[in-house]
Amino acid sequence: MTTNKQPDFLIIGAGIVGLTIALEINKQFPDAKISIIEKENQPGIHSSGRNSGVLHAGFYYTADSLKAKLCRDGNFSWRQYCEENNLTLNQCGKLVVARNEEELNGLDELARRAEVNSVELKMISAADAAEIEPQAYTYGRALWSPTTATVNPKEIVDSVQNKIKSKGISILNNTAYLKRSGREVITSNGNFSPGYLINAAGLYADKIALDYGFSQDYKILPFKGLYLYAKDDGLKLKTNVYPVPDLRNPFLGVHFTVTAENKTKIGPTAIPAFWRENYTGWDKFNLEELVDIIGIDASLFLANNFGFRKLAFKEMQKYSKKKLVQLAGTLLNSIEKNDFIKWGTPGIRAQLINTKTKQLEMDFKYEGDDKSFHVLNAVSPAFTCALPFSEYLVAKIREKLN
Ligand SMILES: Cc1cc2nc3c(=O)[nH]c(=O)nc-3n(C[C@H](O)[C@H](O)[C@H](O)COP(=O)(O)OP(=O)(O)OC[C@H]3O[C@@H](n4cnc5c(N)ncnc54)[C@H](O)[C@@H]3O)c2cc1C
Repeated sequence: MTTNKQPDFLIIGAGIVGLTIALEINKQFPDAKISIIEKENQPGIHSSGRNSGVLHAGFYYTADSLKAKLCRDGNFSWRQYCEENNLTLNQCGKLVVARNEEELNGLDELARRAEVNSVELKMISAADAAEIEPQAYTYGRALWSPTTATVNPKEIVDSVQNKIKSKGISILNNTAYLKRSGREVITSNGNFSPGYLINAAGLYADKIALDYGFSQDYKILPFKGLYLYAKDDGLKLKTNVYPVPDLRNPFLGVHFTVTAENKTKIGPTAIPAFWRENYTGWDKFNLEELVDIIGIDASLFLANNFGFRKLAFKEMQKYSKKKLVQLAGTLLNSIEKNDFIKWGTPGIRAQLINTKTKQLEMDFKYEGDDKSFHVLNAVSPAFTCALPFSEYLVAKIREKLN
């Protein structure tokens, strides 16, 4: 396919958000020329290919949020998509367990949110929880989510990518956005003059948005998600087992995921990362980002608005396999530490922080005008939500264009 340097829509970033936005634009503007530029050599190299693969059900989020509006439908849409396209889907559900009496209040709050969000969720006894997963421990009662499922995120990214290409949309890999010059977009692979620009650049979305006058009050703060896998002949769970989360921050606490391929893993952590693509060792080290991030972390540490100090201390300990297994073990009757020896592929959350209020943004966030649109906080469960989220975003883009 020849490079279209004057597309009607130019999308930056071939993660699940950029890809599904392209599909949705194609549906709503069938004659439009669409190009996606991706800095890596293939789509889905960052969050979209490095996540837990959980299709969340939608009961964690407050009713006024976009996450609440989109998660239930997103869960349904991907399950249907996987079935229609013969992709791996493990409809294994999820137990949320309480570790003590105090956490029962947390279960009640999640049950209340599920009801308001019209999400199927059952409060069950400890005996019923033991029938579902005999190895799970809960204090008194638990929540059972039958619609939570797991998928192979890379398989979905590949499938969506193929659909996109079959519709004549070009995906230009190894093409990094560098800067703008008026309406021109300067990339590592030549210049573009798009009719409309859409920024879905994940970990770099805030930086690109700044070039267009947006994201003035926001910055992306990276949080690293590590996973620890059970040996093939080690622990096997039938369902995902999660704790009651601290609802002051967007992370769900260390839990057990049963992958689409029926492997059991612990994680992800939410360890503050030192630069944006700080996956392992000194890989992609960036001094400017390090200085910037240390400054933000220090200001969050001082403000301590959402319990950041405790969060940071607790998360840093999770670099230790022993500690991670010990923490996850509180969700089960017992755990064999030697079952968990292999780290999985880490992921990094592109979490947006409001630099004025020093709070983490809990909901999806976007900004834009009649020339450009910027998806600023596509954090979990944006993978689950991607199909209805993109429909929602393209409707917003239509409003900007009118
Ligand atoms: C550890 C972890 C676990 C998670 N678990 C779940 C889960 O179980 N369920 C769920 O629903 N969600 C989960 N999420 C969240 C989910 O993965 C993300 O919300 C989603 O993948 C975001 O997609 P995206 O397209 O916005 O970002 P990305 O996948 O990061 O895509 C952005 C793309 O932009 C490209 N890009 C960046 N800068 C440039 C540039 N200058 N020029 C060109 N291209 C550029 C990047 O290379 C990248 O490919 C998890 C995330 C993490 C990190």
